[in-house]
Amino acid sequence: MPEENNSGAEPVEEPIEIQAENTAADDTGPDIQEVSCSNCGAPLSYMEGEAVITCEYCGTTTMLAGYDNIVTVESHYLLPPKAGRDEAIGIASGWLKKGFYKSKDLPNKVTWRKTEARVLPYWIVRCTGNTRWSGQQKRSKTVGEGKSKRTETYWEPVQGRFTEDYTGPVYAREDTSEFWGIRNIEPGKQCIFPDWGKFIFRLGGSKRTPNKDLLEGKMDFSIDELKKANMHEHIINGQIVQERAESSARNRIIELHQNKAEGKATKVMDIDTTIDVLGVDLVYVPVWELVYSLAGKDYNVLVDASRQEVLSGEAPVGKWAKATIFDIIFFLIAAVFAVIGVTSDGIAWPWITAGVFGGSAIAYSVWTATMKE
Ligand SMILES: [Zn+2]
Repeated sequence: MPEENNSGAEPVEEPIEIQAENTAADDTGPDIQEVSCSNCGAPLSYMEGEAVITCEYCGTTTMLAGYDNIVTVESHYLLPPKAGRDEAIGIASGWLKKGFYKSKDLPNKVTWRKTEARVLPYWIVRCTGNTRWSGQQKRSKTVGEGKSKRTETYWEPVQGRFTEDYTGPVYAREDTSEFWGIRNIEPGKQCIFPDWGKFIFRLGGSKRTPNKDLLEGKMDFSIDELKKANMHEHIINGQIVQERAESSARNRIIELHQNKAEGKATKVMDIDTTIDVLGVDLVYVPVWELVYSLAGKDYNVLVDASRQEVLSGEAPVGKWAKATIFDIIFFLIAAVFAVIGVTSDGIAWPWITAGVFGGSAIAYSVWTATMKE
């Protein structure tokens, strides 16, 4: 255990919040525990289950890796925040007026209801995965001549090996739904959610998270950088310790390599994957979780405070985007019936149908012009 008295440690200027004692009378609340910072001695409170605890005074990260095993995380980085609360709202507002699907004046109509800073912990497991595999490949050959010519299949033993490097981020908390947007920022997950309301032709507007390097732009962890953006009191502790992050990365790679190997032969009989872990880093990613409301409805936006961009967001589809989609579809249908009208002499119904669809498109636009967003 670290020493409780900390002679020579920096004086703690702000009073520590007095945490509710866990008396027997109150069992319902979350269990708050305390440990002393291994560097400055400041008391660090944390919730039961949290095991990667960063001191908001000196920035040291203490990891509770099992009974009596308290270590300091040395490889400890930060994506420096470059956007405070107002800048985050500015970034989100810029995003709200961008693109075909959103109304240009959307930022002027919304009310910002919540701006929550969070500095999220990620483990970055740098490793190399080596896989050897062997199996059987189904092949075919033509045998015989003339009439007795036929195709014969046969099996051929095949084998191979491949190596891949990984820097996979592992979110250091159990529950990816406790904060909005966290699960959306995994590569390949849907991150942009258009709200179509009652409109039925829901064409496009959503987006998936690209595969990007979470370590890009990192610096050594600095509590002062977080203080500049007023985010130092919003560091989220990790629940998943380094060892578990490592094994979760291993399992992910083994599964990935299994799938990859199985694509290389008709039958894969034997796969052996070895993983060399080159290093594990803890990276803190500063984000702003924003909520705005429009016409009585709430929408979420997650802003990357370091890269200054929207990572994930919900936005209502503008009325003119809907009208454009509606009109294109209805005019196309009208055009099809008009062509039928031209090619079939003297029949009235294709022209009437074309007129109904074309007229509906025009009526929808007129109605759009009069309606509120
Ligand atoms: Zn400290």
